Amino acid sequence: MSDGGERRFTIFGAGLAGTLMAIYLARQGERVELYERRSDPRIGDVDAGRSINLALSRRGLTALRGVGLEDAVLASAIPMRGRMLHDTAGNLTFQPYGHKKEQAINSVSRAGLNQLLIEAADAEPNVTIHFGAKCRKVDFDRAAAEVEWLDGRRREEVKTGVVIGADGAFSAVRLSMQLRDRFDFSQEYLPHGYKELSIPPTDEGEFALEPNALHIWPRGGFMMIALPNADRSFTCTLFWPHEGANSAAEIDSVDKAVAFFEQQFPDALKLMPSFREDYAGNPHSSLATMRCFPWNVDGRALLIGDASHAVVPFFGQGMNAAFEDCRILAERLDESGGADLATVFTQFSAERKPNAEAIADLALANYVEMRDTVNSPLFRLKKAVERVLARTFPGYLSLYEMISFTNIPYAAALAIEKRRKRAALGLVLIIGLILFAIIVRVF
Ligand SMILES: Cc1cc2nc3c(=O)[nH]c(=O)nc-3n(C[C@H](O)[C@H](O)[C@H](O)COP(=O)(O)OP(=O)(O)OC[C@H]3O[C@@H](n4cnc5c(N)ncnc54)[C@H](O)[C@@H]3O)c2cc1C
Repeated sequence: MSDGGERRFTIFGAGLAGTLMAIYLARQGERVELYERRSDPRIGDVDAGRSINLALSRRGLTALRGVGLEDAVLASAIPMRGRMLHDTAGNLTFQPYGHKKEQAINSVSRAGLNQLLIEAADAEPNVTIHFGAKCRKVDFDRAAAEVEWLDGRRREEVKTGVVIGADGAFSAVRLSMQLRDRFDFSQEYLPHGYKELSIPPTDEGEFALEPNALHIWPRGGFMMIALPNADRSFTCTLFWPHEGANSAAEIDSVDKAVAFFEQQFPDALKLMPSFREDYAGNPHSSLATMRCFPWNVDGRALLIGDASHAVVPFFGQGMNAAFEDCRILAERLDESGGADLATVFTQFSAERKPNAEAIADLALANYVEMRDTVNSPLFRLKKAVERVLARTFPGYLSLYEMISFTNIPYAAALAIEKRRKRAALGLVLIIGLILFAIIVRVF
């Protein structure tokens, strides 16, 4: 399994999943080598990479609690209790996420969270982290990988032992798996991309918007959202089409962007003093759903997190799902006594794959809800009915609550929602039939 006979895990990617997995494995007495392409964020420039802040909810928190880090992460998180909708006239409507006041998702800094996890992994005596070390390919048969050291542009073959691919949506470990027989892979880009902008604190040093909410400017075919940061600023993300009406291609200059914002997001634009620089300087990035299977090469390698299931960000669950992977894999390893990795990896993949599919589909569907449906009277009626149901039946949880405030497997939550929809449809049909029968009798 590894040189010298002793078992060793090699994790590629010290992002969110890779670092948490390293901590879990180390606590189970495993030896872990962690290779990260970027330089050490504790000594170099922090590369926030994609989104600056993330919504962390129950699944992620449960996984962090498993290694004693929940409180440390929550200490700098900002709870968001619901959606604050902004219309073009600047009117605000608050829609709570749950039916209890304490139900909230948490805005956390991606860079801060990653750093905390790197520090915690580094503090484990049996974890060694190598920064500036990019995995280029893995030879699963020889338990070896080619690593490119970014300082001197040197390439080296390292002995890997058991490989965990936690190297994100464009995983090099997955690419090596793709070269093997009978490996399914698909990637589907959204026709929409995103650009990040910023709302700084007010001159008095306060939040410029309500801090305990996720702000949404839903505009049908596109939207902007804003999440609070601990420094009292907000990170805004504009999600819009790559091409066509109201798209990145159409609004191809800063002047056009100012006019577009004056029309669509006037209240936000007033709070963005660096709008011109941010708009010109920040990239327009793409979003994709990536699916693959199998996730493992018998007991020699396993993919976790975005490497195995990258989802679009509209349910705020990519990181939460990645953390949940770590917790569940650790539990399955623990239950098996760590023996027979091939069985554990195969069972883990079979257990997680339907859940990854469910959250991928839910995330795609939620984009339509966030940018469009939230405005509709039918959606508001549905939310009101859900509140009544929650008050009447104490165990009732809406789909959003099941996904964000519980550890109910994603696929099970989706199945419950589908059953409810069928039952509601049946009820509507029965009521319709009864009304029809009454009308026929009366007339
Ligand atoms: C705009 C946006 C907003 C989002 N918002 C949310 C949210 O609110 N809530 C939520 O739960 N999720 C959110 N997500 C999803 C979340 O970012 C991902 O699901 C999460 O980062 C996955 O963690 P990971 O560790 O699998 O991958 P990553 O965080 O991408 O980590 C992968 C790591 O591997 C390293 N790496 C890559 N290639 C190599 C290589 N070849 N060799 C060595 N190292 C390598 C990378 O540098 C990185 O450190 C969002 C995503 C986007 C794009």
